[in-house]
Amino acid sequence: MQLYNTETRRKETFAPLHSQEATMYCCGPTVYNYAHIGNMRTYIFEDLLARTLRLSLPLKHVMNVTDVGHLVSDGDEGEDKMEVATARENKSAWEIAKFYEQKFFEDFDALNCTRPTVISRATAHIPEMIALVKTLEEKGYTYRTSDGIYYDTSKFDRYDALVGRSRLEGLKGGARVEMSEEKKNPTDFALWKFSPKDKKRQMEWDSPWGVGFPGWHVECSAMAMKYLGPTLDIHCGGIDHVSVHHTNEIAQSEAATGQRYVRFWVHGEFLVLRAGKMSKSGGTFVTLQTLRDKGYDPLDYRYLCLTAHYRTQLEFTYESLDSARKSLQILRREAAKALEAAGRQPAAFTTALEEAKKLFRTAMEDDLNAPKALAVVWENMRGAALNPAEKVDFLRFADTILALDLFRAPEEEKTEELPAEVCQLLQQRAAARAAKDYKKSDELRAALAAAGYRVKDTPQGQQTEKIK
Ligand SMILES: [Zn+2]
Repeated sequence: MQLYNTETRRKETFAPLHSQEATMYCCGPTVYNYAHIGNMRTYIFEDLLARTLRLSLPLKHVMNVTDVGHLVSDGDEGEDKMEVATARENKSAWEIAKFYEQKFFEDFDALNCTRPTVISRATAHIPEMIALVKTLEEKGYTYRTSDGIYYDTSKFDRYDALVGRSRLEGLKGGARVEMSEEKKNPTDFALWKFSPKDKKRQMEWDSPWGVGFPGWHVECSAMAMKYLGPTLDIHCGGIDHVSVHHTNEIAQSEAATGQRYVRFWVHGEFLVLRAGKMSKSGGTFVTLQTLRDKGYDPLDYRYLCLTAHYRTQLEFTYESLDSARKSLQILRREAAKALEAAGRQPAAFTTALEEAKKLFRTAMEDDLNAPKALAVVWENMRGAALNPAEKVDFLRFADTILALDLFRAPEEEKTEELPAEVCQLLQQRAAARAAKDYKKSDELRAALAAAGYRVKDTPQGQQTEKIK
């Protein structure tokens, strides 16, 4: 398999360090709020990677849940996001974490993302984090300020490994602006933060340096190395983690172990809105529930994500989501047709089937080229190269990676093909009925009949039938 490595800035052939199993760590959610669909795009790409890797070898996949220690700013300033949420929602930090973790996994499952082998909560790994900070302290990489224990980035040679020297200089310039006087270098970061003296935190722990809580970056290093050893095959995350979070993970981990931390850094690009990047702070916040409320299925969104390569930005619009939804419906209808036709004739498998599977797999193994893999699916469903039984077999194989539930019963075609005018009348009639305006509802029934549609009220809502 070919994978683009952020660190070397090129595609490389992937092979695991240990032949029996590949290892992969993915940065998980910070559970202080709902995940937005931009966050979920990253988990979909990571799921595609996990599924594709598993075609050839077992994979141990670890994902963390950040339930403590994620500060509002990257500059180690501001409050912990969890503690901010407790004030907002009048719940305990533990309740907040539990609630949003559950919501996160509901979305994760609905998008058919495979559950990681290990899901590790930060709050359950405080001793491992303290041990890592202690090692760094013994090796001389840390210093103490009035608010915590910091990592001295000037002592680590490979600090520019991910971003490159010139970009690092720019980052330093930006960080200097809001740098506290006690920090030695603008890129230094907190490994352990002390609880404020005037305030009791809900989540805090004893440590050799005083009561406090771990820095966000140290969480991932400690948990990744606990479950996967000092050197991971693959570490994934969103592209926004490159310059600070993952750069700091390398610094802490390699300084502590003296070994290479990650062999392949793999990053997914942003989902963007016309207004810019989707973010929790910017007010442009679309969740999977927002899409469900508008009548979309979570897998419509998964399909949309597969239409763009994970390393390119994907612009989110409802028009593109509509078109993804439509494509998925057509594909499911093709699958149902093939299944039905295959039942009517004896199965005969030819080399064309192996050829189709190979083309699909080659696309996925070329740095997860999902758009190309989808194109292979369309060609083979529409074309005559495969007989119906082969189409069924091919689609079952493709769906082990795409995970679009291609054999789910497609929706009735007729509801999709209603003329716009009829849709509008149906909407007005639903509103009239909701307002118990039955006179208006009957008038609209007559208008629908005049437009050629008979309408029936059922427990599932209005159903239409074309008048012949
Ligand atoms: Zn992380």
